[in-house]
Amino acid sequence: MTEPSTPEAIITFCGWLRELVGRRRENTAIVHYPVARRASVKDVIEALGVPHTEVGRLIANNEEIDFGYLLAPGDSLTVAPLTPPVDVTIPTLLRPQPLPAARFLIDHNVAKLAARLRMAGFDTLFNPEWHDEELAGECGRQQRILLTRDLQLLKRKAVEHGHLVREEQPTRQLAEILHFYGIAAQVRPFGRCLRCNTVLHEVAKADILHHLEPLTKKYYHSFRRCPGCGRIYWAGSHHAKMAQLLAELARYQPLPY
Ligand SMILES: [Zn+2]
Repeated sequence: MTEPSTPEAIITFCGWLRELVGRRRENTAIVHYPVARRASVKDVIEALGVPHTEVGRLIANNEEIDFGYLLAPGDSLTVAPLTPPVDVTIPTLLRPQPLPAARFLIDHNVAKLAARLRMAGFDTLFNPEWHDEELAGECGRQQRILLTRDLQLLKRKAVEHGHLVREEQPTRQLAEILHFYGIAAQVRPFGRCLRCNTVLHEVAKADILHHLEPLTKKYYHSFRRCPGCGRIYWAGSHHAKMAQLLAELARYQPLPY
């Protein structure tokens, strides 16, 4: 029996993942990792600060591997970030279970993103009472992308599709998500109820006349109603906000990945 020539694995982090590693150590690009016991790549990179959800490719000794790979002394590992546009409907080596569509689940630390995603027409669940355990569980059960600013939450195994929201301002967060998942062309203004996420239906003015204020009755003619909660939407109600939102989205400069 001979000892391995080096007890370390060399781990190279690419792109913006270096910022996540950098929260913990100075040399952010290359980490000499002492392999004291056999641990999965997922556990090792998460111990170094990078949630598995942010990783797009893993290469060990020139071969593409998945999160279950057991790191060995002498290994040379490259960790590359997910880069936009990320299509969650296509299976990959790291995420073999694709999602039926880009649908979202919102953590309370990015709560204001929920109404904006719904305003843009995307299926978005948000329940302020759900904490980490429920969020991680719902993410898998509901086949959704979990959006959060909580690194620890994204490290949970139940979270297969998740994204660390890096922008701080809610409209910029929406722009970040549309860019990251390449779904800007799928924006449907006022496709869903801002309050309850239900798809809105066109409704005849005559059917809702008794719900309208006199000025709304006078000036607006096209209406939508939420079959879930009954809320009525019309051109005057949120359109100025929507126009402002679309203008801000058009000006957005994407983050580096
Ligand atoms: Zn509703």
